[in-house]
Amino acid sequence: MRKIILPLFCLFCLSATVPYPTRIKDLPSKTALEILQKAYPNEIKEIVYDYKWKDWAMIAETYSGDSVRLFWKEGKLLTEEQIPESHKYRSQFYGYPKKMKDPADMDDRYIAELKTHTSKEARKNGAVSSPVFFDTLYDARSQESIEKRLTRVSFLGRRMTVHEKIAEPLARVEKSIYRKRIWNADVRVFLHDLASCDCYHWREIRDSNSRSFHSYAVAVDVLPEGWGNKIVYWNWERNRNPDWMLVPISKRWCPPQAVIDSFEAEGFIWGGKWAIWDNMHFEYRPELFLFTEAVR
Ligand SMILES: [Zn+2]
Repeated sequence: MRKIILPLFCLFCLSATVPYPTRIKDLPSKTALEILQKAYPNEIKEIVYDYKWKDWAMIAETYSGDSVRLFWKEGKLLTEEQIPESHKYRSQFYGYPKKMKDPADMDDRYIAELKTHTSKEARKNGAVSSPVFFDTLYDARSQESIEKRLTRVSFLGRRMTVHEKIAEPLARVEKSIYRKRIWNADVRVFLHDLASCDCYHWREIRDSNSRSFHSYAVAVDVLPEGWGNKIVYWNWERNRNPDWMLVPISKRWCPPQAVIDSFEAEGFIWGGKWAIWDNMHFEYRPELFLFTEAVR
């Protein structure tokens, strides 16, 4: 029997994949800012030496042409006002793994850490992502402002509302997937079974929360009909299974590797590689590939 397709947005997409914490802090500020500039060359106007801060700073341009100055502090990208409270914020980067984390490789300590990280308490009191950089990039300081930047596209035969800045890379992802279906049977099955593709979903954020990349309209959820009779998302599984992280990879629905490759080639990470796995989720984060390459 067909399963009902539940609310399609993984609204609290968390990434617990932080395999290089010390290296993030040790990353020279200029290198970190250059990674971001390479990933977002049109938005980051320049990287300058700030004599007051006595370090390098980034100047990003807003949609209205204003400049926002951001500083690098211990792996975080912050405004001058945020610096005194830098402990409240999460690192700007995390390593993007080559492979999924296999539950067979998890020890008790790792499992306990994951449970703590995903507890209600940690979600309420833990560090948050500073929204300033991405708000500037995508004109997302309010629902009204970002909705002027959205566009309707066709993607894998579905209509989606996406940020105008990802329309082109997404079109290239589609072209690549369509090309592969000619010779790849898994891709043909994926396209045949595809039930939905969803992107934009605005959500206000509170202090204790981080903005989902669906709010920026740069994350795409792809779901197969009946979820391929498998499990798709850690947070849905957690409702009935506290050991959700131990669900074997074979029981999780995964897009074909060829599809993941097509997304990754255009700067989209796949949520299936997060320790807090979200296998329907792709997100435009070209800087994470560049960071991972830089620290490897
Ligand atoms: Zn998602």
